[in-house]
Amino acid sequence: MTDHVLKTLMPRSLYVHIPFCHSRCFYCDFTTFVVDTTVREKYVDHLVKELALVANTYTKGERVVLDTVFFGGGTPTLLSAQQWQKIAFAIDTYFIRSTTCEWTVEANPGSTDVSLYETLRAIGVNRLSFGAQTFNEGLLQAIGRLHFASDVKKSVDRARQAGFERINLDLMLGLPDQTIDDAVFAVDEVLRMGITHISAYGLKIEAGTPFAKWQQQGLLRLPGEDLEVAMYEAVRSKLLTQEFVHYEISNFATAGEQARHNLVYWKNLPYFAVGVGAHGYVFGERYENVRSLAQYEDYIDQEKRPIATIETVTKEEAMEDTMMLGLRLQQGVSMKDFQRMHGVPVRQVFGQQVDSLLAKGLLVQENGQLRIPAKHYEIANVIFEEFIGVCS
Ligand code: SF4
Repeated sequence: MTDHVLKTLMPRSLYVHIPFCHSRCFYCDFTTFVVDTTVREKYVDHLVKELALVANTYTKGERVVLDTVFFGGGTPTLLSAQQWQKIAFAIDTYFIRSTTCEWTVEANPGSTDVSLYETLRAIGVNRLSFGAQTFNEGLLQAIGRLHFASDVKKSVDRARQAGFERINLDLMLGLPDQTIDDAVFAVDEVLRMGITHISAYGLKIEAGTPFAKWQQQGLLRLPGEDLEVAMYEAVRSKLLTQEFVHYEISNFATAGEQARHNLVYWKNLPYFAVGVGAHGYVFGERYENVRSLAQYEDYIDQEKRPIATIETVTKEEAMEDTMMLGLRLQQGVSMKDFQRMHGVPVRQVFGQQVDSLLAKGLLVQENGQLRIPAKHYEIANVIFEEFIGVCS
């Protein structure tokens, strides 16, 4: 098959990884470190240099327009005002933020004062995402979070005071000993705050975390799959009565409040990424940066990209990705966009799989879109698997 559009499409999004936290939550396997301020300062200096390296690699000195920027972690709000200003200056040196650029920063409840939120607003950040997870104090302690439930409201109030209107809260489902009432209570608390975007994720036990060890030792009492599905359904039903749209399997938003940066991932569009352990997707190649801070800094000191692995995404893999990622969205995959992106009609490639899923009612085709009906979200992974390995 011929080349695909993704090999030439210039990204309009940037992900920046800030790998620092006050302490490690018991379930977390993200690239993050508990370090002192000197280490953070050094990291920011290297990050700024990596932005230059990325721009030189892909944009040939031209300042590319960014529609979305996302700072994830870690806890990006551990950076100081000066460090934020330094990074913002670097982004604006090598890129142009569009006038409507969505700039999201992840934050931990209770860890940030009004003046830092004001700095973030001043440099152009216009969306915050707080890891609330649960509003049950016992559960917060059980998963190793440092904040109290009451910190969430305080943080949201402070952020609003500084001018933030777009705020997401992350919630977790399937935590040890969590009940359906806990999950619904969390949603009630979020709704009382007038939040317009909620991400609700199921707990995953990741290898190498304290939770994985405790599970092996039989010390972790997880609610089990059925109860977790019931929590998800309870959360979903509650939000649907409150003008929220369930626009992605794990995400809910009121009208116009969808996370535009995450839509880039789900639509299988390209994005730049910088920072230790960050993953990017540029010109048909997916790259992953090294996960060690020392190695990351060594590479950059030698003026080299800190890349651990880089893989060319074949046209076949790209088509499978478009299906698996796009079907996470309520609107599903646009058949027109698929053809535009891959140069071939979706049914020509996946006709057999689509027909079989349509016949079973696991897929719906309407208005030029293929989508999974919401009642089958709980088996979405099984549906995605139908599209793996079809083209190879
Ligand atoms: S705050 Fe987030 S990134 Fe940091 S340890 Fe906890 S879950 Fe991981």
